[in-house]
Amino acid sequence: MEDDFDQTLDSNYGSSHDKVIVHLDADCFYAQVEMLKNPELRTLPLGVQQKNLLVTCNYVARQFGVKKCMLVSDAKRLCPSLILVKGEDLYDYRQMSTKMTLLLQKFSPLVEKLGLDENFVDVTQLVAETLKSDFAGSRNVEGHIYGDITSRCDCGCYERLCVGSQIASEMRKQLKEELGVTCCAGVAYNKLLAKLVCSTHKPNQQTTLFPAGVSDLMLNLNNVRSLPGIGHRTSEILQSLGISSIEQLQNINLELLEHALGRTLAERLKKLSVGADDMVVKPTGKPQSIGLEDGFRKISLESEVKDKCEVLLQRLMILLAEDGRIPGAIRVTVRKYDNSSRYSHRESRQCNIPSSLFLPKVGTLSSNAHNKLLTSIMKLFHKIIDISKPFHLTLLGVAFTKFQERNTGKGSITSFLVKDISVQSVMNFQNISLHGVEAMECSSSKNAGKQSGSTLNYADKSGSESEPEPSPKKTRADFWRGSRKRSLTESDKDSPNKHRSSELRLSTGEPINEVDFSKLSDGIQEELMESCMSLPSLTDKLGISDNSTPNTSMSIEDNFQTNASQKLWKRLGSNQGPQDQ
Ligand SMILES: [Mg+2]
Ligand SMILES: [Zn+2]
Repeated sequence: MEDDFDQTLDSNYGSSHDKVIVHLDADCFYAQVEMLKNPELRTLPLGVQQKNLLVTCNYVARQFGVKKCMLVSDAKRLCPSLILVKGEDLYDYRQMSTKMTLLLQKFSPLVEKLGLDENFVDVTQLVAETLKSDFAGSRNVEGHIYGDITSRCDCGCYERLCVGSQIASEMRKQLKEELGVTCCAGVAYNKLLAKLVCSTHKPNQQTTLFPAGVSDLMLNLNNVRSLPGIGHRTSEILQSLGISSIEQLQNINLELLEHALGRTLAERLKKLSVGADDMVVKPTGKPQSIGLEDGFRKISLESEVKDKCEVLLQRLMILLAEDGRIPGAIRVTVRKYDNSSRYSHRESRQCNIPSSLFLPKVGTLSSNAHNKLLTSIMKLFHKIIDISKPFHLTLLGVAFTKFQERNTGKGSITSFLVKDISVQSVMNFQNISLHGVEAMECSSSKNAGKQSGSTLNYADKSGSESEPEPSPKKTRADFWRGSRKRSLTESDKDSPNKHRSSELRLSTGEPINEVDFSKLSDGIQEELMESCMSLPSLTDKLGISDNSTPNTSMSIEDNFQTNASQKLWKRLGSNQGPQDQ
């Protein structure tokens, strides 16, 4: 048994050093966006508020002891001059988040977004090309080094991580120059370590971790809760086994852990505890469908349905314009409420639509095209609902799907994109989980159920991965170093950002103006869930018992998003916002 255990840990699975991963985390992201919108706030203590919570604050405010996820009242007590801005409307944060991800995609197609303000970038390929083309170059580490590096691993990871740190530095520089956003970065040979080491020097700094420092980094974590995937429940189970520190997790017998958590999780946690992580950077892509839903208490007239759909369609055209792709099909979803069984269920139907409707420019519909779409929507509706009988609907949704990707050439970024299904709800802006969407798709046609595997497996793409773009990649490697050298000789004042970025555009040929309609609520949900739950004092103050914390956080989130959606409706000048909550 002991032997088995040792084998699991000793196997190189997830702990080889051949990758270079950069994790970037924007400093107090919402506050930065607010300060960019209103530069006068830069020198003042600023907090971003959602309901009665301070979700983040700038570093001026932190000097007063203000911390994120505090109650607004507590923050005000610590810093009476604290300026508060409302952060419920995520629109601007989402826009900036997308810009950051797009900028990073210029360095590697393998960019995975985590929340709104964090990104993992797998730069292994870029590092390899840089090393190949620049073998005589000096190997300096940019930024901090975590721990001791007197003993160097001889697998070549030292050089790779050095170059990784230089790339990370260039990424941060471009994020600052082109978007005005400061970030922290962590550089390591896997995602776990890159993320963990990223937070060791804040704000606006970067840290590189070499294998020799891994053990220290892991043992210096306060708590097992610092590991990804250990949420409230898992940590409770671990607690019951007497495990709260990383060291305890490292030392616990694997079988015992398996017994409590199941084999998969137990093995994963064991590996994480020693800094091993085999998760790949999964590129965040465009959604497979773009949809809006509106929930309400009751609709039972066809005319009401038509009105609702008309509003949804108008709003949807804005999202479509943002996305830039042309849809090939439209889908209508309803939720029917059955009074006798008090049970409601969803049903969807979809039909193909001609792309000519969206010419000459996607997002601008002629009134004729608008009417045609509305007719299609109502036809689909009639296929689901027999209006000769009474009906009671509690939700209507319209979505575009079957997108044609713009022809960006083989091997371009788009071919790496993961197709995530994302449906945005007008009512509560909730992002429907894959399960939810699956259920929806299943209800319309059993065959569509197989779509659940819509998250592309990285391994499946390895074929196209190993066939690099003929020249752009080389140009990319040359470019980032080129710009770096230039920037060392030019003063920052004269440094022509425009020149730099247009050169990048030319060299990579990648579509950088396309706006990704990315997952709306993930970031904030994670941030809130994580930060609220890691603060027991906060949940106490809110009068939430431990057991209900996850749910309560969710409903807080729902409220934020409802507010956000109401603002959105206002911005659209529509009176037909969400009616009830
Ligand atoms: Mg951050
Ligand atoms: Zn190594």
